[in-house]
Amino acid sequence: MHLSLHIIVPALVAVLFFRKRWLKASIIMLATMLVDVDHILADPIYDPQRCSIGFHPLHHFGFIGLYFALCFVPKARLVGIGLVLHMALDSIDCQATNGVWMSSRVSVTPIVGVIDERAGPARKQMLIWPKLQ
Ligand SMILES: [Zn+2]
Repeated sequence: MHLSLHIIVPALVAVLFFRKRWLKASIIMLATMLVDVDHILADPIYDPQRCSIGFHPLHHFGFIGLYFALCFVPKARLVGIGLVLHMALDSIDCQATNGVWMSSRVSVTPIVGVIDERAGPARKQMLIWPKLQ
């Protein structure tokens, strides 16, 4: 369900708002799903109970601000829109599965790493990045 929304919504936006070049727009926006590559830093890589927003480095608020900014750069607009849609869908998914719009405990910077407090001690998850510092 969640994955299919990540495909359907960008394709729909492409057809509705970029009618003349909907195929190229769809492909570019679908490619922004690659932002989920940051999940490989988390353990486990996929956890349906975990909220991506604010947890994974590329789903951090600093980057989300950058994605919004990209929407206003003509050459990067489709990438920006794709990423903003992705974050919005992830956030809606958090609301549907966990009743929150974003991860409850977030760090100031994505580099410091995030511990998901809501996961509880048995399922405390931390990114690999802090260990590299
Ligand atoms: Zn995501």
